Amino acid sequence: MKIIYTDVLVIGGGLAGLRVATGVKERGHDVVVLSLVPPKRSHSAAAQGGMQASLANCKMGEGDNEDVHFSDTIKGSDWGADQEVARMFVHCAPKAIRELAIWGVPWSRVHRGEHTSVINAQKVTISESEEAHGLITARDFGGTKKWRTCYTSDGTGHSMLYAMDNKAKEEKVEIHERLEAISLIHENGRCSGAIARNLMNGELVAYVAKATTIATGGYGRLYSVSTNAIICQGIGQAIALETGVATLGNMEAIQFHPTAIVPVGILTTEGCRGDGGLLLDKDGYRFMPDYEPEKKELASRDVVSRRMTEHIRKGKGVKSRYGDHLWLDITILGREHIEKNLREVKEICESFLGIDPAVDWIPVRPTQHYSMGGIRTKYTGESQTLKGLYSCGEAACWDMHGFNRLGGNSVSETVVAGMLVAEYIADFCDSDESALNIDTHTIATFLKAEKDKMEALLTKENGEDAYVLRRRMESIMMEKVGIFRNGEDLQAAVDELEELYKRSKNIEVFRSKSRGANPALVNAYRTQKMLKLALTVAYGALLRTESRGAHSREDFPERDDKNWLKRTITSWPDENQTIPTVSYEEIPIEKMEFPPGFRGYGKDLTVVNPETTKRQGVVDALTEKLVREGANRFEIQNALMPYIDKLPKKYQGTNERLEENV
Ligand SMILES: Cc1cc2nc3c(=O)[nH]c(=O)nc-3n(C[C@H](O)[C@H](O)[C@H](O)COP(=O)(O)OP(=O)(O)OC[C@H]3O[C@@H](n4cnc5c(N)ncnc54)[C@H](O)[C@@H]3O)c2cc1C
Repeated sequence: MKIIYTDVLVIGGGLAGLRVATGVKERGHDVVVLSLVPPKRSHSAAAQGGMQASLANCKMGEGDNEDVHFSDTIKGSDWGADQEVARMFVHCAPKAIRELAIWGVPWSRVHRGEHTSVINAQKVTISESEEAHGLITARDFGGTKKWRTCYTSDGTGHSMLYAMDNKAKEEKVEIHERLEAISLIHENGRCSGAIARNLMNGELVAYVAKATTIATGGYGRLYSVSTNAIICQGIGQAIALETGVATLGNMEAIQFHPTAIVPVGILTTEGCRGDGGLLLDKDGYRFMPDYEPEKKELASRDVVSRRMTEHIRKGKGVKSRYGDHLWLDITILGREHIEKNLREVKEICESFLGIDPAVDWIPVRPTQHYSMGGIRTKYTGESQTLKGLYSCGEAACWDMHGFNRLGGNSVSETVVAGMLVAEYIADFCDSDESALNIDTHTIATFLKAEKDKMEALLTKENGEDAYVLRRRMESIMMEKVGIFRNGEDLQAAVDELEELYKRSKNIEVFRSKSRGANPALVNAYRTQKMLKLALTVAYGALLRTESRGAHSREDFPERDDKNWLKRTITSWPDENQTIPTVSYEEIPIEKMEFPPGFRGYGKDLTVVNPETTKRQGVVDALTEKLVREGANRFEIQNALMPYIDKLPKKYQGTNERLEENV
């Protein structure tokens, strides 16, 4: 029996996991990171467009600050987010980006003097100030009032991850690659590590830790076409769910990105539209201004994806043997700009489409992209129900995105949440509370359970083929739990997924019976887990009879604040159940700094909650009084919804800006 003891186990070597690991290590705790792949190959490396932080350095970012970033994020979430968490996030994003600059991320910078940008299909001259020269610059992104998305050309995630991995190495963080966590060790509501399988030799290893963090990214690969890396299969969320104790939040909140290339689904960044790219239909007509006259191509992602789908349904899509699509036109930006700021997009177009985006239009279609749902946590990143289990990054429902994430807010979340959660974990490990009292017999029981499951898969005869079940699951999710949803399709999806799940209990590993490196075995145990997750998504979507953010029900088009201002909580308490248990967590209006309102897209279909008017009255009266008394924006914010004390002391300070030298 191989047991490895450490203070902190981090499952996941992407941006979120590495940031947690670095933080706890700096606080003097031992840490082991598990990763399916070498960390630099984590999916975070694929992030292209940028990271939001309200630095307000460039001309078009002037006037930006935490308040503007906060209101954009809450509107973007369609009021589904936890507003305290969103506040903590916007406060710390400028700190995180500056820290990354120190660690070596070569952020694109402001250049003094005039430069040309494309805004609303027009070439515009922008003049940058002398004092901003050399500071981190930003580009425009969807759903934001200011240019706030900081970037390194269109290789932002790549450069962030490389810097982060180098920092982890510098801190001597121990990394165990090609190790897959397949279950959590837990007893009496306390998590004390994980069982992992070595993907090279099949060995099962028990990792025992005071604190365990799941930072395994999203679950996009439940869908047949996704911009996500193929390892984004939601195994982290699934092993949390399988404890029967930890819960998942808002699993039905799935984002589709407007501009993945057709047919393969590889992303072309929102930076294409942020920098001035246009969406065109089969007639070369720019249709977005007809639907969203104000924000046009730069409406929130969920909105643009729906508008594109509507337009295709009206027969305006371009016919192709891979289905209808629309065009993304970035030719207007010019070759120089593309080769400097959108070079990954150029390479993707050349390699996967055989076109040159400086002269050709790019075939695009909305495609599964991001998982707002995940392991439900407190603001500290700890599971609400399983002590010692933490989560952050895309794997978590922390929950600053609610029902729709803004572009650029995700890589930002990974590093901000990572840096905060590291401090909370370190505090936990410093306290007596973290003492572990687990005997080797219990550990052996968990190891044996996983060993037995592997044996059962390998020795089963006349069973089901996991690949067949999985392909069917992916199609169901794509066809019936997609951008537009309705009760009939969702019910059919739940019924069939439940059937597939039952069949998955009878999976046989075909092709190779090897107990070592064996992709068929890996697929077999992952498929069972993925089916459980698919059920949490489809069932949550079926029960949520309203439309909020990326969850759009054609049979319930209203955002129903009266009945649905709540988070969906899913659990799987009994291994024999075949459908998840669903409950709800209220999102209290009376605590909101920014009570629910109209997002500003299309028609206002909100079913207003009577508490909203009351709270808005309180917010307005308090703000007016404080303004009269000469209070500054920080004092007003603090009176409306205090959050600063929740932050670790070292991150409580205000952020400096050129315009706001506090
Ligand atoms: C193409 C693309 C472009 C994007 N561009 C942007 C952008 O410009 N701006 C932005 O804000 N966001 C962007 N996003 C979103 C953003 O990249 C991700 O949300 C973010 O990087 C997720 O980081 P993470 O650390 O949470 O997870 P990941 O980077 O996905 O890392 C997960 C880690 O977990 C490990 N792992 C998984 N399962 C297990 C297991 N069972 N056992 C052990 N290890 C495991 C993996 O090996 C990996 O190391 C983009 C997403 C895509 C798909």
